[in-house]
This record gives sequence, C-alpha cells and structure tokens, in this order.
Amino acid sequence: MHALKALVVAILVISFMTFVAFFGRLPALRNTPISWLHGFMWNTVPSAFLAVDRRITGGRLSRAMRRFGNYMMYERHPTVLIFFIALLIGGEVMYLPTVWPLLHATQRFTVAIVVICPYVFLWLSASADPGYITPENHVVQMAQYPYDFAMFHPGSHCRTCQLLKPARSKHCSICKHCIGKADHHCIFINNCVGAGNLHWFMLLLFSTAVLLMYGTCLGLSLLSLAIKLRYPDFSMWPPAAVNYDWNTYFLIMSLALQSNVGMGAVTLLTLLTAPLVWGLWAYNMYMIWAGTTTNESLKWSDWKFDIDDGFAFSRRMSPTREKDLRFEPAWTKWPVETDSIMVRTENGPPRADSTNIPGEGEWTQVTSLKEVDNLYDLGFWDNLRDVFWPRYRFASGSGVPVDGRIGRGRQRERRQG
Ligand SMILES: [Zn+2]
Ligand SMILES: [Zn+2]
Repeated sequence: MHALKALVVAILVISFMTFVAFFGRLPALRNTPISWLHGFMWNTVPSAFLAVDRRITGGRLSRAMRRFGNYMMYERHPTVLIFFIALLIGGEVMYLPTVWPLLHATQRFTVAIVVICPYVFLWLSASADPGYITPENHVVQMAQYPYDFAMFHPGSHCRTCQLLKPARSKHCSICKHCIGKADHHCIFINNCVGAGNLHWFMLLLFSTAVLLMYGTCLGLSLLSLAIKLRYPDFSMWPPAAVNYDWNTYFLIMSLALQSNVGMGAVTLLTLLTAPLVWGLWAYNMYMIWAGTTTNESLKWSDWKFDIDDGFAFSRRMSPTREKDLRFEPAWTKWPVETDSIMVRTENGPPRADSTNIPGEGEWTQVTSLKEVDNLYDLGFWDNLRDVFWPRYRFASGSGVPVDGRIGRGRQRERRQG
C-alpha cells in the first residue's frame, strides 16, 4: 500500500520535473511558477554548486562537468534516443508476456500495430533529413517561403554555413547546419525537427500517445478482470466505493498490482505519462493550427515584449515593390506575400523617407500583436498540407514572378472562406 503510494508519487514528481526541465522556458509559461522552477533548476542550483566546488576543489569538478555538460547539451549524441528506446523495449518486455496470452486474435493484431508504429515513426523522424540547407539545395530552400519582413528579413547571412538564411530557417548549433522551417532540435530523436520531418515527428508523438493510452486501458481492464475473480462486486471504474471504503479500494488495487508487478508498474507508468505525451501532441497541433513553429513562437514572444515597450513600428509595403534578387527569391511556393514591414527601434519610428528600409509612407507604432498578420498562417488545412506534404506548391505556375500574381488580399479571402 505504502509502496504503491510512494511509486505513484515518485512517477508523478519525476514526470513533472522532466516537464519543467524541458518545457519550463516555453513562452506560454513565462512568469508562472513553472518558469521560476525552471530558472531555479537551470540557474540557481548550478551556481550554488559552482560556489561550493570553487571552495572545495578549486573548480576542477565543475570544469570537468561543464565539458561533459557541453558534450551532452551541444553535441549530437544518441543518449536520450537510446534511453527512449530502452524505455519502450523495457516496458514492453515487462508488459507483453503477461498480457499476450489473455488476448484474442483481433486484440493481438491491434496490439502489434500499436506497439510497432512508434518504432517506425521514431526511425523515420530520426533518420530523415530535417531540411539541411546546403549550397546544392540553397536555391530550392530559398523558394519555399517568402520573407515576412517581421521575423525574417532578407539579407541575413549564416556565418557558419556561409549562406543567405532562407525565411523560416534557423542554424542549429547541434546539427551544425541551417535547417529549413526549423522547429526545434529534439534530443529524443537526436535530430532537428524541420520541414523535412515535422510530419514524422507528429506521427511519432501521436503513435506514442496512442500506445500509452491503449496500454493504460488494456492494463486496467485486465487488472480489473483479475480482481473480479476474487472480489466479484469490485468495480475499478466507476470506482465502486459503495461496498468498500477508499482504503480497501486502494488496498485491493495494490494487491492486484503486486501480483502482476511488471504489467502493473508499466500500466501505472503509461497512465501517468500518457497525458504528457497527449499534451505535447496537442501543443504541436496548436502550432500547426496557428501556422507557426516553436522557433517562431519564441520570436513572436520577443516581438510581444518590444510591442509592449513601444519599440515596434510598421509601414505599408508597395504591391509593386522591386525585389532585390541578390537577397530574395523571385518567387516562392507560398501563395501570399507580406503587405507590411515591421521593425524594432529604441528611439522612435525610422524616418518616413528612409530609403535603406523597404516599404513606403509613414511609420505607425504597433500597439498589439493582434494587429500583426502572420504570413505563414494560411488556415488550418493548408497549414496541415504544408506540414504533411512539404513539396506541395500552393502557388500555381512556378517560375512566374510573384509580384502582381497573388497578394495578401487572397489570403484574407481564404481565411473568410
Ligand atoms: Zn547555418
Ligand atoms: Zn539540430
């Protein structure tokens, strides 16, 4: 009984701390206790440790740990990927031998599919080219998305790759490459998530979430069946605490778990971790719905701060603007182009006649992020198409200059329609 409680608490605490460690920096959690705890974990604790080590070993221990930490954090290595696979295999080895003989043929078929899918999608997301930008494919990468002149301005160079940065790309210091439509570097797949594998990554999250949910339901229903053999009036769900008080209910549950330790522990683990994986999947679906990436959501949250501080200004972009083809592609696969430019300055708007900044007319202060159109949001279905069919060309008549062919007006029509 106490052992069960301790196990539940331990799993909950570990899942929560893992969540805080990896996701506490997300913009949505800024200024919440979770982000404070994240700061405590990554800043306060390490600096306290440094201070103690400086006194005791003169800092030798922390230098060695920093080298190890740098390797773990900033080099590509499959440690977490191996841990993830070990967790999957370990759980299945503990779970399946008990469960398999109790299943009928169709259930066995379902279990086989549910178990195999995460491995397949893990392999596909880990081995796929996430969208490495190389001198050979640079022209194609440049033609994917137009610059929005807010988060992405033309003419910015990657100093490492020595290439112009295409819109929506980001240099990954771990993969040592610029990545097209970069989302984030994921240590679970030991690869970046970008235009080339976001679809596999979404399927990995979804199949893992289904695996955990199915494992939970199957495990609980088999445990319930086993308990009912001894206590026929017991019901796990809805919890029948009519004939039993809660203590007896948990005592019966823990006895059942103890008689099937492997399956019981795995069921408990899947029950407690399934919400986390479903949450991650929902978060990434939300990002697709919003037409953005993790990388861009960080940029948007920076813009929000500049807008709140009164440092953001925008002006109209001429529909007949001449593109500087040294820095910008003549056309892209994207059906829309920006009709405004947004800049940040700390000393008021730029001059209206400034010729080194594109756009025309007076600058107006941007007072809310709501005023800003996200160029990369075409609506949920087209955003989804862009993720799952990265080669799809929204713009028809490839090679025709973008100017005058399709403007922002069409995007607004699409959104309304
Ligand atoms: Zn780069
Ligand atoms: Zn990377």
